[in-house]
Amino acid sequence: MRRRARAPIIRPMAAQPIGIDSFLGDPRVAYFSMEIALRSEIPTYAGGLGVLAGDTLRTAADLRLPMVGVTLVSRAGYFRQELDASGRQIEHPAHWDPARWGVPLDAKVAVRIAGRSVWVGAWLYVIESPLGGLAPVILLDTDLPENASGDREFTHQLYGDGDDYRLAQEMVLGLGGVRILHALGFRISDYHMNEGHSALLGLELLRRNAYRPEDVRPGEPAYDLPRVRGRCRFTTHTPVEAGHDRFSYDLVARLFAGKTAPVELSLLRELGGADVLNMTRLALNLSDFVNGVAKRHAEISSGMFPGYKVRAITNGVHPYTWTAQSFRALYDRYVPGWSVEPELLVRADAIPAEALSAAHVSAKGELIERVRALTGVGLDAARPILGFARRMTAYKRPDLLFTDMERLRRIAAQAPFQIVLGGKAHPHDEEGKRLIALLHEHARALAGIVPVAYLPEYDLALAQLVVAGADLWLNTPLPPFEASGTSGMKAAFNGVPSLSVLDGWWAEGCIEGVTGWSVEDAAALYDKLERIVLPLFYARAADPGGWIGVMRGAITKNAAYFNSHRMMRRYATEAYLR
Ligand SMILES: *Cc1c(COP(=O)(O)O)cnc(C)c1O
Repeated sequence: MRRRARAPIIRPMAAQPIGIDSFLGDPRVAYFSMEIALRSEIPTYAGGLGVLAGDTLRTAADLRLPMVGVTLVSRAGYFRQELDASGRQIEHPAHWDPARWGVPLDAKVAVRIAGRSVWVGAWLYVIESPLGGLAPVILLDTDLPENASGDREFTHQLYGDGDDYRLAQEMVLGLGGVRILHALGFRISDYHMNEGHSALLGLELLRRNAYRPEDVRPGEPAYDLPRVRGRCRFTTHTPVEAGHDRFSYDLVARLFAGKTAPVELSLLRELGGADVLNMTRLALNLSDFVNGVAKRHAEISSGMFPGYKVRAITNGVHPYTWTAQSFRALYDRYVPGWSVEPELLVRADAIPAEALSAAHVSAKGELIERVRALTGVGLDAARPILGFARRMTAYKRPDLLFTDMERLRRIAAQAPFQIVLGGKAHPHDEEGKRLIALLHEHARALAGIVPVAYLPEYDLALAQLVVAGADLWLNTPLPPFEASGTSGMKAAFNGVPSLSVLDGWWAEGCIEGVTGWSVEDAAALYDKLERIVLPLFYARAADPGGWIGVMRGAITKNAAYFNSHRMMRRYATEAYLR
């Protein structure tokens, strides 16, 4: 029988939200992170850690790696930064509406906190790769009508006030995260803890791998620890002590109050430290694969945690996200396929000098325009822009460049340059806030000689402009505290070379005079600027091979390697497929 031809059905073109069901088939790696930078409009991140987490999941989407991200919804964000004229930082809540960007999920799980059942709900945000892949992210939310008002706020403020609040957040993330993945029907092959904040997920897995009480002989473990370890991976991110959460056992006992508490408390003491619950130690003891985020950082971490094998998987950044439009177009033309296979950028040598120059002029123009709009500072496109923007905190030494103001003025008199700064300080980091004010003071002192702009509210979108529009990227941390650093890698994707201290990734990425330059201290910084970097910049018309050659080196030798696709292929083969 012949079928009657039917009139074509015309569907509305509105994008259908992608449902959770599309992600529930094959097993996935669950990637837990207290912060994930999904997009500028979603302020659920504080800095490099969150941006790395976002780049990780964006890459999973590009490469179609089966992953699912788990984080807190942080409805009030980290904070919105206002700066007054003297550079005093004023923090405002950065409220956002998860319904605008995510899909509410109907699963709910309870976590016992301080003797109360705190209900945890979830939102689905889907990362869509420009290459067609998808990666789901689960945003945990306790702001539900069934919770008491204090408990509703556990997922409001990223890195909010007080140990009680922080531990409650980490219970929601670790315990609530594992439970909601199960409630939603996810099958999980590996649990990856991005930093120790989520280490309580291991406790939840232990609970799920408890031996039957009648099978446990006195003195023997009640849980199948090797099995849990076999499924957990841990990436540590900082050699700064304050970066490792510690909670007193009084607090732990209070928040874990309940029938099972005594057994679990002794287990936590065994795995997380006898005196205080150290989340890094807990994560180390619960994972069979531990890594640092650069070779040097893995060595430092091995020294900090004797007895544990700490491997190195050096960080990378997401190619498409961190490449300016003008460079995307350039690479599409000369290095097709670069965004899914950034190793191909080794071939960027073939890009003509004029084309590279033109792409940079375009990115620089966009930055100059934005700087004027945001700060009123006018920058000159013919003069080099030095960029320094990141979390403002003491070990990053944002003031190192301003150590000797006279010397800086003398250098500028010979070879003029301009400076663009930006970054937030944690609300309780008094030293970080003092540094922001100090930078403003230096900017005033240099007025008329060196234009200095400090951009407020540094976020993903501003970072994209600054790393691409600067001519030179500065990083001057106090070694060995920069575990990796990633902003210099972002700059490299835009042909912007670094002038940096040999710490973190730069110890691997720097080839002197080829990809950029290294410095040890303020004196070396001035010497290199004065004798090598600025002269090379100003000679670029007469000697295009010089400056353009270093721009090419940044692309072919740094961007081709320090990208998140290489990083994720390594996590896949070394950490996940074990
Ligand atoms: C990349 C990035 C950072 C990290 O910068 P580092 O120099 O690696 O510390 C911080 N904040 C934002 C918004 C970023 O995009």
